[in-house]
Amino acid sequence: MKDILQSIAHFSITQPCTNAIQHEDETLTYQALDEQSTRLAHMIQQSTKPILVYGHMSPYMIVGMIGALKAYCGYIPVDTSIPEQRIQSIISKIEPDYIFNTTDETFTSDIAEVITIEQLEGSSSTEAELQGIQGDSIAYTIFTSGSTGEPKGVQIYYDSLVEFANWVVTLNENKEGQHWLNQAPLSFDLSVMAIYPALLSGGTIQLIDKTMINKPMLLHELFQREDINVWVSTPSFMELCLMLPNLDEASQTSMETFLFCGEILGHKTATMLLNKFPNAKVWNTYGPTEATVAVTSVLVTDELLANHEVIPVGVPRPGTELSLTEDSELVITGQSVSAGYVKDSERSAKVFFEQDGRRAYYSGDSAVYRDGNWYIQGRVDNQIKFNGYRMELEEIEAKLKKQTEVREAIVVPIYRRGKVGHLLGVVATTAPIEDEKQATHDLKARLKSELPDYMIPRKFEFVDQLPLTNNGKLDRKKVNEVYGS
Ligand code: AMP
Repeated sequence: MKDILQSIAHFSITQPCTNAIQHEDETLTYQALDEQSTRLAHMIQQSTKPILVYGHMSPYMIVGMIGALKAYCGYIPVDTSIPEQRIQSIISKIEPDYIFNTTDETFTSDIAEVITIEQLEGSSSTEAELQGIQGDSIAYTIFTSGSTGEPKGVQIYYDSLVEFANWVVTLNENKEGQHWLNQAPLSFDLSVMAIYPALLSGGTIQLIDKTMINKPMLLHELFQREDINVWVSTPSFMELCLMLPNLDEASQTSMETFLFCGEILGHKTATMLLNKFPNAKVWNTYGPTEATVAVTSVLVTDELLANHEVIPVGVPRPGTELSLTEDSELVITGQSVSAGYVKDSERSAKVFFEQDGRRAYYSGDSAVYRDGNWYIQGRVDNQIKFNGYRMELEEIEAKLKKQTEVREAIVVPIYRRGKVGHLLGVVATTAPIEDEKQATHDLKARLKSELPDYMIPRKFEFVDQLPLTNNGKLDRKKVNEVYGS
């Protein structure tokens, strides 16, 4: 199995001028990535706490990650889309010694020392030996939505990361020097599926930013300009891109592999894609952040589509085992499983456990195994995926309930053509609302400081009382039936 840090060091010698990372007109070669990350590692090597790497799709975000691995302390990626209060709650929990700010904006902190790109570039490089991260250390911690209202920090061992990255390289048939497209913001673990396999195989990472995602014309131009070989995204992003002109085999002759994860890959989406790229390898992979990105895979072919109405998630990768509880909840066992939620033994104890001496995780996904393949059939809790983003409805409700005018709240996902189209907040108020438009506007504005935009309900219904079950609890099912249709 290839080591990530050793691979970067190797390629910085064998192909120093090859771009490791590209974003718009910013590029970073293997040599620069190796040098800059070593420089950063020297600056932070005394730290025993993970460094917070802050920014959006800057190649320096990856310098921060690799620097943290070299310095043995690990990192927490924080995208600029994460609201201020949420970032502050992460900082108070972790109490990092360092924050690497890769943006042009000023970032101040009472707790941590903030390092800027200018400071990094101006720091004197030293030859001192770096210890480098060990397999049983935490490589990264990714924060994800939590039902109590507080995000959970999923800690991933370096061994798990290395095992995962090597596996993805095998899905891509061990090809070297390829051009990998990364769509997911770096604070989501789907980005791990592009970054590390690319670096492990001497490839180039192409970062897509939120401006491009909001302006399909920019994406179109990018695809005309760059010869992408491997595509890593959510199925939702693929659906968006399938509308673009000239995204097909005739125009994109370099495209070889598509890797999807994070949500259901729809039959229609896969069919359209294979029609446009009949010779491409299309992989549907499944997994939660808690099990290092993805733990299963299936190659989606015309034959598979012809024989399956619903696309399965396939079979587990080497080193991972899947089983079911009596209630059909999927249990993931193996090296891929996280070390638990950071500084949160209570929530960790509910879902992480040991099975025959190996780490195991209750995924919260309801699943079935049929004819050699696993299928995901929904959730056993109130976690949803909206445009590829994972969220616990209770987290949004917890933030709503903190508002003075809100007595009770339930958030309902409103489905359109089988997918969540928007969120509706059904709110029982403390006093009658006179101007619902204004009340909606005010609630949204206040939620904005606590929740990422994608978690803020688009619409609100104001009611006197939410329905209750026979034993007096809020009746989520009923609310879904009434408002969700
Ligand atoms: P995240 O931690 O953001 O990657 O979200 C993990 C959750 O996304 C899983 O527990 C599933 O509910 C869902 N998920 C991930 N991949 C797939 C897939 N290929 N098909 C269906 N659901 C998926």
